[in-house]
Amino acid sequence: MEHLLPEKFEDYAEGRKKGFLKMKKVKDEGKNVVGYFCTFAPLEIFDAGGILSVSLCGMSDETIADAETELPKNLCPLIKSSYGFALTEKCPYTYFADMIIGESTCDGKKKMYERLGKLKDVYMMQIPQGIDRPYAKPLMANEIKLLVKKTEEKFGVKITDDDLRKAAVKRNEYRRACLELMELQHAVPAPVPSVQLYKFLDSIKFNFDLESAIQSVHELVAKIKEENATNPDEKRILVTGCPIGGVLDKVVGSIEKNNGRVVCFENCSGIKPMRCFVDTENPDIYDAFADAYLKIGCAVMSPNIHRFENIPNLVREFKAEGVLDVTLQGCHPYMIESRALQEKCNEINVPYMNLETDYSHSDDGQIDTRIAAFLETI
Ligand code: SF4
Ligand code: SF4
Repeated sequence: MEHLLPEKFEDYAEGRKKGFLKMKKVKDEGKNVVGYFCTFAPLEIFDAGGILSVSLCGMSDETIADAETELPKNLCPLIKSSYGFALTEKCPYTYFADMIIGESTCDGKKKMYERLGKLKDVYMMQIPQGIDRPYAKPLMANEIKLLVKKTEEKFGVKITDDDLRKAAVKRNEYRRACLELMELQHAVPAPVPSVQLYKFLDSIKFNFDLESAIQSVHELVAKIKEENATNPDEKRILVTGCPIGGVLDKVVGSIEKNNGRVVCFENCSGIKPMRCFVDTENPDIYDAFADAYLKIGCAVMSPNIHRFENIPNLVREFKAEGVLDVTLQGCHPYMIESRALQEKCNEINVPYMNLETDYSHSDDGQIDTRIAAFLETI
């Protein structure tokens, strides 16, 4: 079946046109595509059903003004950008997604998904946020079961426990490969340039072939080991907080420019989800998924036990000399948590700085000055 391109396709720049044509081909070949926004989305389900899954997080301010015609201006830029791309039909992945997974994480996203449901087929997962409660794990396991059922109905596929287990084995392999890359930064000096590391981890999510994604991580690891391009004077920084794809050049580019190197990205797209392995030996695969996904230390959790356990350990493990906590404007969960994180960093005696920013370029100079001053104090 041939799929239609957006009405404004001819107005798009070449790169965007290519993206649309690539996704149109995927759809014309009969493949099904699921879009997701959050690390809590259990991608093993789609792998098990032979369905492609793709991240839809908006990373640029290009569509924010359009989004603000329907959403409040004081929402976080990630939410506005993501919604704006759906509204303007400028993202090929959102445009061609047959179903989009929303999740009950922060209030802004939850309510945005209700609007998005008017444009696309959105399925909401209810994520338990009190992970210290005994019912959190069974609730998450049930939510995963419901998502499996929804996926089977939507796409006319059958997903067995055995399929899920095999998919989990493969995703664990992918997680291990990404960790091998990230853990190269244990070395002093750390060998992987910060922007390159993040961009690679982010772009690999768009490789629909998991086997080839794993292979390309191994190739990069081998190449970095061979090149070993390091600078012993660089300050070792751990970056935490909100997802930072939309402020990468502004923040991480500035760290690099000011003689720093990110030794660990704790955020989503970094180490946080990669250490959440699924126990494939667990006789109840749903229990294993629930266990793994509830370990994601996101600020929407209360208490957010895992983030506060992980950061001191990661500081020690990666020998970080400073913690940079990046919060997107309007992100209440991470902004409020920044105070407690500062106290935690004081306890373990590591310099801490919070940076609040958005996807615009109006504060580029100010962010650069603050990062330069922070690195200077280390
Ligand atoms: S920070 Fe939290 S809500 Fe945002 S993508 Fe990560 S897990 Fe999801
Ligand atoms: S950055 Fe914060 S406000 Fe924005 S989507 Fe993530 S949790 Fe929600």
